[in-house]
Amino acid sequence: MNIGDISKLNCTGCCACVNICPKNAIKIVTDDEGFYVPRVNEKLCVDCGKCYSACPSNENAYVDESLSGYLVRLKDKIKLKKSASGGAFFGIASFMIESYGALVAGAAITEDLSVKHIIVESRDDLAKLQNSKYVQSYVGNVYQQIRNALDRGRTVLFSGTPCQIAGLYAVIPLKKRERLYTVDLVCHGVPSPAILKRQIDFDSKSKQGRVVDFRFRYKNPKAEGNISFFMMVMIMARGFPLVRRVSQDVYLNLFMQGLDFRECCYNCKYANLKRIADFTIGDCDSRDFYPHFYPGESNSILLINSKRADSLWKDISKQFDFTALDVPREAEYNHQLKHPFKRPKQRDGIYEDLLNNEWLAVKNKYSIPQNRMDRYKLLILLNTPAWVKSIFAKIKRR
Ligand SMILES: Cc1cc2nc3c(=O)[nH]c(=O)nc-3n(C[C@H](O)[C@H](O)[C@H](O)COP(=O)(O)OP(=O)(O)OC[C@H]3O[C@@H](n4cnc5c(N)ncnc54)[C@H](O)[C@@H]3O)c2cc1C
Repeated sequence: MNIGDISKLNCTGCCACVNICPKNAIKIVTDDEGFYVPRVNEKLCVDCGKCYSACPSNENAYVDESLSGYLVRLKDKIKLKKSASGGAFFGIASFMIESYGALVAGAAITEDLSVKHIIVESRDDLAKLQNSKYVQSYVGNVYQQIRNALDRGRTVLFSGTPCQIAGLYAVIPLKKRERLYTVDLVCHGVPSPAILKRQIDFDSKSKQGRVVDFRFRYKNPKAEGNISFFMMVMIMARGFPLVRRVSQDVYLNLFMQGLDFRECCYNCKYANLKRIADFTIGDCDSRDFYPHFYPGESNSILLINSKRADSLWKDISKQFDFTALDVPREAEYNHQLKHPFKRPKQRDGIYEDLLNNEWLAVKNKYSIPQNRMDRYKLLILLNTPAWVKSIFAKIKRR
């Protein structure tokens, strides 16, 4: 038996099989929807069964229910601006680098504008991992690199989706995890990199030249508070960025509605309060119950899931302003802490539509048009300094 015997509906594309194969007989390719899947070279395969038995889709590897949870906001306001919400990831990662000289693995946008897991070791390089990339990240051989680093005595912090944490654990045996710490995300689900590529290729034909970078979450760098907007921002080779609201952008619109997730995401066994990682981070969806804690702003939730995470929390907490979180109540509002995203009927055949039609036709079907005025309005809104906003607010109040 080998990994080829795992059903397509169960494979998460975590890449554990590639990292564990002793014969390098497994390659990651893309399926007909553009998702990462393993392919076995039968000529090289010796049928040892390691990939099959390691595959996380075969087992239930949970730690216990979360021990406690906090609503957090990073104290370092400059670094906070680069995070998707309250900077929970940056706080943990910078503590691990400074206190343990840890290597930190996480998802970054690479030069070819794809999203891949990379390893960094300086506080400055954490910027590459900050902010949410709402697409499946390619893990490649990062678990192997981590195994080697642990063997050399390094401490490692790995961050990713819960299925990627499961992939990592499949490659690193329990007895070697003493210096390995993990952070998982509350995860909605992941769309295919092929759809993001189509969107980028289309935008690259605009008058502003090609797309050189992109964001799914955006904070006004000149504003006082910490408000993060869900927005597609394409940074262009020349001129202003292309900025679109969720409804105006095919990619983000489909993501927010959960119409194009990988099939396994709709049956995700990690979408509940039994967390697989030491720490879990996410957006706070029960924020209205905390009127005393930076009201109206985008704070993170941080769940402490293991005793070792709990023992680090006393020191890590110095990075944050924080308050206790009612975890069961958060799960009432943040649904992927309770159950996987419900598969919508429109998921059937959506990839045929998205991959086989002209992008212009796809755009007309799955987004609403944006007029030029709205684009300029967004550009101004997203860059207006705090002092200008406060003058307008005063005028409005009069
Ligand atoms: C695909 C996806 C779906 C999500 N769905 C939800 C949700 O339904 N509910 C919710 O509360 N929060 C969700 N989040 C988490 C949320 O977007 C923020 O990441 C979270 O609030 C933490 O923000 P932060 O400010 O602490 O850190 P950030 O600066 O956003 O931290 C970035 C961290 O996220 C990791 N990361 C970013 N992109 C990816 C990726 N593609 N794959 C793996 N790891 C990645 C980085 O490695 C890094 O550890 C999701 C994130 C992703 C990537």
